[in-house]
Amino acid sequence: MRLILIGPPGVGKGTQAALLESRLGLKPLSSGVIFRSEIDADTDLGHLANSYIKRGELVPNGVTIEMMAKRIRSEEVRKAGFILDGFPRTIRQAEALDTMLLEMAMPLDKVISIEVDDDVVISRLSGRMGCTKCGEIYHSINKPPKREGYCDKCNSPLFVRSDDQPETIRERLRVFRENTAPVRDHYQALGLLEVVDGSQDPEAVYEAIVDGVGI
Ligand SMILES: [Zn+2]
Repeated sequence: MRLILIGPPGVGKGTQAALLESRLGLKPLSSGVIFRSEIDADTDLGHLANSYIKRGELVPNGVTIEMMAKRIRSEEVRKAGFILDGFPRTIRQAEALDTMLLEMAMPLDKVISIEVDDDVVISRLSGRMGCTKCGEIYHSINKPPKREGYCDKCNSPLFVRSDDQPETIRERLRVFRENTAPVRDHYQALGLLEVVDGSQDPEAVYEAIVDGVGI
């Protein structure tokens, strides 16, 4: 099974990828994780990517595609199948991926788009607080700390990341839609797109994905 997961920040893509891995054995391939592992392993591609990241620039398409291709071509991933998360982000990346998979005779099965209203994402993310010391994550509604503003584990003050401020979240969602819409349309035109309602609880979202994929 070869899938792409599309969804805005806060929609629970990571949770779904983990469920698909533990229950179906698919390998989650997150572009962020692959970038970091290439950089940590000091590979040529890692060096190249890092030279852009350090200057605060976007890693060019060619470098991103090459890193993802290396993982997709690995024997482990060819055998197990994969779930792509965070890639492809642009039409050029999608077309490069399509060509590579065609050459390998490993076509995509489905592209799953997990969709929710902005307000749902904002209420999920904007209540998040992190511990300044141990990194534990709390949520004002779902997981409040026992003592307001302080960590249950180590008593250090909690903070809201600037990424989790409502205005920042709205801007991230806008950028996400702008970038992803052409990729979503591309796969819809190919008849591969399945839209899943991301406002449900994680088990229901998982069931909808499995249904959509037709397992
Ligand atoms: Zn703590």
